[in-house]
Amino acid sequence: MSVRPIAIIGAGIAGLSCAVRLREAGVPVEVIEKSRSPGGRAGTCGGDGWQCDHGAQYFTARDPDFVAEVERWLETGVVATWTPRLAVFDGTRMHPRISDEKRFVARPRMSTLGRHLAAGLSLRENTRVTALAHDVEDWLLDTEEHGRLEPYSGVVVTVPAPQASAMLASVASELAQVAADAPMHGCWALIARFDNDPRLDFDAAFVNHGALSWVARDSSKPDRPDGHTWLLHAPVEGDLGGESEVELARIATSMLRAFGDLGAPPPDDWVLHRWRFAHSPDAPVIGAQWDADARIGLAGDWLMGGRIEGAWLSGRKLAEHILAG
Ligand SMILES: Cc1cc2nc3c(=O)[nH]c(=O)nc-3n(C[C@H](O)[C@H](O)[C@H](O)COP(=O)(O)OP(=O)(O)OC[C@H]3O[C@@H](n4cnc5c(N)ncnc54)[C@H](O)[C@@H]3O)c2cc1C
Repeated sequence: MSVRPIAIIGAGIAGLSCAVRLREAGVPVEVIEKSRSPGGRAGTCGGDGWQCDHGAQYFTARDPDFVAEVERWLETGVVATWTPRLAVFDGTRMHPRISDEKRFVARPRMSTLGRHLAAGLSLRENTRVTALAHDVEDWLLDTEEHGRLEPYSGVVVTVPAPQASAMLASVASELAQVAADAPMHGCWALIARFDNDPRLDFDAAFVNHGALSWVARDSSKPDRPDGHTWLLHAPVEGDLGGESEVELARIATSMLRAFGDLGAPPPDDWVLHRWRFAHSPDAPVIGAQWDADARIGLAGDWLMGGRIEGAWLSGRKLAEHILAG
């Protein structure tokens, strides 16, 4: 008799790192992802002749296990170091930011990292899980596109905390509460494209003033296409807004005005992207959660301090809990 797989909901870095570790240990898994490709918030958008990392910008590595993993990614060439001319804007002036911290990006785009981790995994894309149900020993998943899937022997939820809380409320109230205790803030990402080099004397800047928090010349990252593509981030606490075209235009105008304050001319084209759940700065660091009796667990960056490193570590931790029984 074949062993039923564990369902991993979400093909972001947390879900994929959990899946990779379980597969290494011989545990069958199936990753279920609502989008058309893996990677989650470590994503890249694009169009005719251009691309831009519009979620995670780069990552750092401090934990020894993650440092070792990044070494392997560097060896295979999926990741490279990025050494931008880095600055900080304090509201009046740009200051060079001197830092010897290593910053890594996937190449030739951030979304390559998700694809790399997903290689060889059983991955069901374009499938949004709408409900979970527990039936004696099995977990049953309802999906928007394919109805109820074949039963699973366990389930791992790696979606952002507010979505995890809603998904778990009727089947795992304690885990749902853990997720409910981790508020997440949204973020606008504006991709500004220029026909000619706007000639700014920095490649990336932390912006400690006004609407923006971060700007970066995407084309300064390794192996990106030629061009003059910039990414602007504007974090939002509470409701993101942007429900109407007028409001979207207002948000874009304010972001571009703030970019102008850094010396940038108006772009020739721009695209605005909404990250409804981007960061969880106030979430307690728990690592991962596994209910061994019910065989249901939680992982995600928001359980491990945020960021790509936290997501990868959280997924790994959950896999170790599952393997421990
Ligand atoms: C604007 C922005 C800037 C950032 N900058 C940085 C940075 O510079 N450095 C850094 O290290 N980190 C950064 N981060 C954070 C980093 O992107 C995240 O920490 C990390 O990618 C989270 O991975 P995850 O797997 O926990 O979650 P996610 O990437 O959110 O993965 C969850 C997955 O679940 C899927 N999903 C959701 N609901 C369902 C459902 N119902 N059914 C099926 N699938 C579902 C989603 O599509 C997604 O793929 C940034 C994030 C954002 C948004």
